[in-house]
Amino acid sequence: MAKVGFIGLGNMGLPMAGNLVKKGHEVKGFDIMEDNLSKAAQAGIKKVASGADAAKDVEFLVTMVPTGKETIAVYEGSGVFKTATKGTLFIDASTIDVASAKKAHEIAKAAGMLSLDAPVSGGTGGAQNATLTFMCGGSKEAFAKAEALLGGMGRKLVHCGDAGMGQATKICNNMMMAICMFGACEGFALAEKLGLSHQTLFDVVSTSTGNSFALSGYCPVPGPVPSTPANRNYEPGFMTKLMLKDLALAQSASQEAGVATPMGAQAHAALRLYMTMVEGAAEKDFSSVMNFVRGKV
Ligand code: NAD
Repeated sequence: MAKVGFIGLGNMGLPMAGNLVKKGHEVKGFDIMEDNLSKAAQAGIKKVASGADAAKDVEFLVTMVPTGKETIAVYEGSGVFKTATKGTLFIDASTIDVASAKKAHEIAKAAGMLSLDAPVSGGTGGAQNATLTFMCGGSKEAFAKAEALLGGMGRKLVHCGDAGMGQATKICNNMMMAICMFGACEGFALAEKLGLSHQTLFDVVSTSTGNSFALSGYCPVPGPVPSTPANRNYEPGFMTKLMLKDLALAQSASQEAGVATPMGAQAHAALRLYMTMVEGAAEKDFSSVMNFVRGKV
């Protein structure tokens, strides 16, 4: 069993770190929010007072923070590389821009550490049930070392390529998911106006050509899939502001690469409009855009 430091114990990080504890790993955790630290202690994670403490005397240091800004802040400003032992594997599971991910790898390499960008797919359900997919970028050596640990938090681990390629995979995935979510919401909104029940539409489409994970795994209306955020007033889940961040990352990557992604651009613009116009939308699950699509917020 391994010694692990975990930084960022929010909606995703807390259940992920909790699963490592359940697998028998010794986990130290740090978060800047005291509330989250208290919850971590209940899950058997040892609370520590700083990122530097979390990185001390561990084999793995996992970060699960909101954006590239926070990942770089942890890597550059929290003293983790002063306390970590050389050869420690730094795994950033946050979804961040490719440039920050590459920078994080460079910082880790310069400090004599191994590193992996390893964003996840599967949402909070996947984090709780240890069924996440990890998309990993970095050296073969780092990936091989991470496999057993990541296997305690997910069920599919893919080595996508060199530094940053995990993040590249992730932003493509989330752009595709957001486009499908708008499709599912528009379908339900139209069905409502046509007098068709949610359940009937779901039963047919979930086994027909209009199916997607947004519909059958993340259904944006309450009822058909009882575990989705729609059934608990859109408590996240995956916050709208985080999905908006990923769509923005996909758009800047598309522009840089010279690729036309008009549906991704529409999804980005529509979600941004929703967040601008509706108070509290940023912190709701992104599938709450259902209400915006049907014009009832
Ligand atoms: P969250 O806001 O719930 O959690 C982030 C945590 O990081 C917070 O508790 C925050 O206090 C902490 N944090 C921020 N800066 C810190 C610092 N400098 N030091 C220590 N702690 C710090 O967000 P989340 O939903 O857990 O998402 C985390 C990452 O995972 C994001 O990049 C997100 O895009 C990605 N993600 C989320 C989901 C999802 O369904 N929620 C799914 C896949 C990927």
